[in-house]
Amino acid sequence: MRVKHPFVIPFVGLKPGEHHFEFILEETFFKEFDHSEVDNGRFVVDVLLDKKSNMMEMTLTLNGEMTWPCDRCGDPVSIAIVGNDHWIIKYGDHTEDQDDDIWMYGPQEHQIDIRQRLFELVHLSLPARRAHQEGECNPSIMKKMEDYRTEEDSDTQWIALKNLQMETPLDQLEDDDNWEEDDE
Ligand SMILES: [Zn+2]
Repeated sequence: MRVKHPFVIPFVGLKPGEHHFEFILEETFFKEFDHSEVDNGRFVVDVLLDKKSNMMEMTLTLNGEMTWPCDRCGDPVSIAIVGNDHWIIKYGDHTEDQDDDIWMYGPQEHQIDIRQRLFELVHLSLPARRAHQEGECNPSIMKKMEDYRTEEDSDTQWIALKNLQMETPLDQLEDDDNWEEDDE
């Protein structure tokens, strides 16, 4: 079953056993949250709901893709994102969903709202490193950066460092970390 909105799964009418649901998350989904790191891309989440007599077991499998400026060259780089999530919903006499791994649903509940869970799953699965594979960066930008670095190393930074070392006691040098950010 394909579900686009509003990211809830009605479970009351479901037969016992396994049920799959597919959710597609795009820019519009993330725009509804105040602090989203995601502003592009497409994410497909398969939800496996295993309905049992005393509880439901939820398993989410995420496959997506998002584009960032590369950490090294700044050109756009598209990175595959995978992740998963699992929790249990027990049937109880009242509703409690604070716990990450075990929720409790009272008899009045009839649907599972996984909107927040989807948002968190994507964010927890984002890679820390967002760069092209080695050797796949924009060659002209890499060349420019290399030239710039060599030039800086050979005069500006080196001279600045030498002067500081001569004029500044070491404890002051450590406090002042702005000296090399003079290029902007
Ligand atoms: Zn790159």
